[in-house]
Amino acid sequence: MILHEHSTSAIPTQPPLLLQGGTILTLDAGATVLRGADLLVRDGRIASLGSPEAPADTRSLDVSGCLVLPGLIQSHLHLGQTFFRGLAEERRLLSWLRERIWPLEAAHDDESAYWCGLLGAAECLLSGTTTIQDIGIGPGARGLLQAVVDSGLRAYAGQCLMDSGDGLPEALRQDTDRVLAETEALGDHFAGAAEGRLRYVLNPRFILTCSDPLWEGVRELSSRRGWPVHTHGLEQLDETLAVRELKGGRDEVEYFAEQGLLATDLRLAHGVWLTREHLDRVRGGRFSVVHCPSSNLKLGSGIADLLALCRAGVPVGIGTDGAACSNHLDNFEEVRLAALLQKLKHGPDAFSGLDALRLATSEGARALDLQDEVGTIESGKLADLVVLSTDRPEMWAAPQVDPHDLVAFGASRAAVRHVLVEGRLLVEDGRLTHLDLAEIYRQSGRCLAELIRRSGISPL
Ligand SMILES: [Zn+2]
Repeated sequence: MILHEHSTSAIPTQPPLLLQGGTILTLDAGATVLRGADLLVRDGRIASLGSPEAPADTRSLDVSGCLVLPGLIQSHLHLGQTFFRGLAEERRLLSWLRERIWPLEAAHDDESAYWCGLLGAAECLLSGTTTIQDIGIGPGARGLLQAVVDSGLRAYAGQCLMDSGDGLPEALRQDTDRVLAETEALGDHFAGAAEGRLRYVLNPRFILTCSDPLWEGVRELSSRRGWPVHTHGLEQLDETLAVRELKGGRDEVEYFAEQGLLATDLRLAHGVWLTREHLDRVRGGRFSVVHCPSSNLKLGSGIADLLALCRAGVPVGIGTDGAACSNHLDNFEEVRLAALLQKLKHGPDAFSGLDALRLATSEGARALDLQDEVGTIESGKLADLVVLSTDRPEMWAAPQVDPHDLVAFGASRAAVRHVLVEGRLLVEDGRLTHLDLAEIYRQSGRCLAELIRRSGISPL
């Protein structure tokens, strides 16, 4: 689907590429670091490491003095909220949704969602993210999915599903059977798009906006089509109290257990208020949690206990949530906050820079069941990579410093030099190679002005 004459979908193919002389943080099981090493990318994969023999047509890129890492994985995002940065400040979760975010989301159409998605995707790529899991939107879902395809990112993405709930605008209150059929049709169209980089995910928003029949339909669709389920839960105490009131005293995990959703590949954003009893209950299933520290801080949600999750064997990913609540999509900031918050909770020796960096790489891949393809730098894996400059004041340190600490506590998007997805250089020397940022700004400005007018919210 081409939404606009200035389509940005042309991603150049690449000849073999040799990244020469970098310090490679493999993030493999032993956290191996290879210094002054070469990395050969061929046919979209990491062909070899160390001192590989390169074919004659290989392009070489000198990355000496740089750090080479697996591309970052953001396991919870709302690309459809990128336009809403700064439009919903100083509110608790439920009023934040009812007074601002839902009316704004309800005003999306395919075109606004397309440019909003591309704007967010551009920020992700420029800050080193190569894989996302997006919770989607209702109106405009098709436009947003097309933006994900055109962005070049690897993604789990789908339509956001809602059919009930207090304060939900009419435009977001979908007919249950119709929305289930619609999401299956979107899955048929988009699953496997972008040469297989896009995988479809079922996105029921959260318990307060999804009826029992909608959850039953999601479970049925998940088991029939093999699509995972991504939702929000146990984010704020207010929300959990409202869930108990609505569901006869049951909390989120008890409700999911009763609905049979713990038997699916269930990916829970936030999980701030998960208890030991919850963790006992989800043990043995394919249940993962996505930590969103900026969002949890800004909305005053609380501090998730990542150590308890790790001890229980629950895979934990990380993400910025949406620009409407975290204001930025730079996953390096989330990595830093994750480590700092666990130190506050458990003491300074509790969560290392390496532990935090794994949330956005090897652990993040496990949270999305992509651990055989991405998340570490190993021969045969897909060449999703980020190259960081160290010739910056905040990245300059003694050679003895653990580079994982250097990245986890000091890196930001400012250090991102190159980004590759499946061997394609989508960011080179800090600039997007395949997206026209000026055009994205121009179209976004036009679409957002119209969207705000349609939303009818005031005052801003
Ligand atoms: Zn969210």
